[in-house]
Amino acid sequence: MDAGVDAGVEPGVELIGALRSVVGAGQVLDDDDLVAPYAVDWSRRFAGPALAVVRPADTAEVAAVVRACIAAGVPVLPQGGNTGLVGGSVPGADGPPVVILSTRRLARLEPVDDLAGQVTAGAGVVLADLHRHVRAAGWEYGVDLAARDSATVGGTIGTNAGGIRVCVHGMTRAQVVGVEAVLPDGSVISHLGGLPKDNTGYDLTGLLVGSEGTLGVVTAARLRLVRPATASAVALVGVRDAADALALVRSAVPRGVRLLAAELLDAAMLRHVCTVASLPWPLAGAADHLLLLETESPRDGEIAMDLPDDRDAVVALDPADRARFWSYRERAAEATAALGVPHRFDVSVPMGGWDAFVTDLRARVRSLPDVDELLVFGHLADGNLHVEVLGPQPDDERVDAVVLTAVADHHGSISAEHGVGRAKAAYLALTRSPAEIAAMRAVKAGLDPRGLFNPGAVLV
Ligand SMILES: Cc1cc2nc3c(=O)[nH]c(=O)nc-3n(C[C@H](O)[C@H](O)[C@H](O)COP(=O)(O)OP(=O)(O)OC[C@H]3O[C@@H](n4cnc5c(N)ncnc54)[C@H](O)[C@@H]3O)c2cc1C
Repeated sequence: MDAGVDAGVEPGVELIGALRSVVGAGQVLDDDDLVAPYAVDWSRRFAGPALAVVRPADTAEVAAVVRACIAAGVPVLPQGGNTGLVGGSVPGADGPPVVILSTRRLARLEPVDDLAGQVTAGAGVVLADLHRHVRAAGWEYGVDLAARDSATVGGTIGTNAGGIRVCVHGMTRAQVVGVEAVLPDGSVISHLGGLPKDNTGYDLTGLLVGSEGTLGVVTAARLRLVRPATASAVALVGVRDAADALALVRSAVPRGVRLLAAELLDAAMLRHVCTVASLPWPLAGAADHLLLLETESPRDGEIAMDLPDDRDAVVALDPADRARFWSYRERAAEATAALGVPHRFDVSVPMGGWDAFVTDLRARVRSLPDVDELLVFGHLADGNLHVEVLGPQPDDERVDAVVLTAVADHHGSISAEHGVGRAKAAYLALTRSPAEIAAMRAVKAGLDPRGLFNPGAVLV
């Protein structure tokens, strides 16, 4: 589109006309009611103004949409399933109106390359669909998380998502062999050949993974696949604290057996899950924490874990029971959403530092007004805690400052897997040095000199 705008025509109106000519009128939403669900995030804590939602069908359309927005000087915000939890997937409340570029129609899924153990997927492919597709071919995709029915390949790449299998397969970055993307100048880069070894220059794929829509739009990805577990057993065990749980994981998983997951919930969180999801208390007696442990089994129906007899524990072997056991962990975010609009923190601390951090955090948060409850659960095997605080108003930042400062004091990271988004952008310096942030700014300025890609996310 031409950068010039006719006198007397609102720039937004001109842009929407240009977008309609690129993707078709039906794929540009500018009616407030239709735009609203895209402009507020899953947590309901973050929302902001959007000029329109545009839904391109392929990479050429994405590039044309980006060029039209840049010519009009209007910011672009890539969005997948909008399950992000750090306000990065929706416009900033005080920011300029943006065009939300929804990737959901980029849902191309190519046949699995059995020889390479790879697949090429469009950015808009939903994670659960990707899982079904590769399982049918005898493979597994290494990233899985509770938002699998809505989160997309592009969104999980955008955030470098973690999830429940990081302890065995690593984070999303470890699964991405190459990407195709539209950069902020509208150019297309494509690296989908799947070469396992390719040391030619800067790793642009690695750079785009975790860039949260601030450096371009990923339109497709070449993904590494893993062999599925032969079979597995899931145990729910009552434990005292994280140290007790970690000691149990170390002694219960025999040498040579793959640990598939180790997740932890505190008792208060577990009680809320039971109430909201109408699930019975899973153990025979009371417990301070619940450990969910999953290990690979050599054969269906076999248990490859050594659980001491004196532990309050139950073990699931068949798929229905395993799924039921997992729901105690997977419905945690939903349970707190049913209680209000929590301040959600996804943080990590060094292994072994979980209990000391939580004890210190509870003491610090106690001094704040309006805090009703502080709940902790998360991916124990990765030192990744989800801390959820109920009570403070959504825009009351005091609790954010206290929690994230405590994380820094405990030598952790203010974002383990959800990203920085808008929620944590002002706190980045707590766990990243001035030199690191300067390098990030240089990358951003180099690729997006006008700052039009997801402004206000990651860097402020
Ligand atoms: C119930 C629940 C459980 C969750 N569990 C986990 C978990 O275990 N681990 C975890 O890591 N996360 C988890 N999340 C958070 C969320 O699901 C992940 O961050 C996920 O990666 C977001 O994917 P999405 O498609 O919804 O992306 P969106 O929310 O749409 O976007 C997230 C970010 O990525 C950017 N983005 C989206 N698409 C693209 C693209 N094509 N190119 C470039 N940038 C893009 C956006 O601009 C935004 O900054 C959970 C969320 C919920 C609601």
